[in-house]
Amino acid sequence: MQGACEESTVGLEQTSDRSHGKLNVSWGRAEGCVLFLCNKCYSVLGDSLSVCGDEESLGAIACLRVTEDLNVGESVLFVVEGNLKGCAYYSLVCRSCGTNIGFNLYSAPRAYAFLRGLFCLLKEHILCYKLKCSSLVPGNEMHFEFPSLDEDIAQLKTQLVQLHLKMELISQQLLQQEKNTGACL
Ligand SMILES: [Zn+2]
Repeated sequence: MQGACEESTVGLEQTSDRSHGKLNVSWGRAEGCVLFLCNKCYSVLGDSLSVCGDEESLGAIACLRVTEDLNVGESVLFVVEGNLKGCAYYSLVCRSCGTNIGFNLYSAPRAYAFLRGLFCLLKEHILCYKLKCSSLVPGNEMHFEFPSLDEDIAQLKTQLVQLHLKMELISQQLLQQEKNTGACL
């Protein structure tokens, strides 16, 4: 399907938004909101506003919340191969068609500890529906970008240094004023 977006962070038709053939989505942008659908029955499973991680090595999108159309398995299962070998998890199953959409990690090695408790949707089992463009794109073509904090931290540091210098200047002026007042008496 083709999209008709002209200004969007998800611009399905804009090559500038693509990197390595993937569709880039800026995190937290309501105007670029994307729904995650089951690729078999099109049930809505979640949305991009609740995404808090894009784990390329696992091919999974980690979400804080999902819809009621995604069932969390009742029993703990164990991963027997791959990067998460030995990890315990609950399976996430599409309520309508029974497709195994992803996992909810109960235990994980340090490298993936941040995923524990999150709803990880495997990109290969989802479709992404861009609300603004009414376009569908395979989950495998999605990539979520998270803004770097480095720039913000550098800016904050500069502001703190400027504030510190200003405080020193005021403090010196006050001292000087006190001295002058003392000399007058
Ligand atoms: Zn389904």
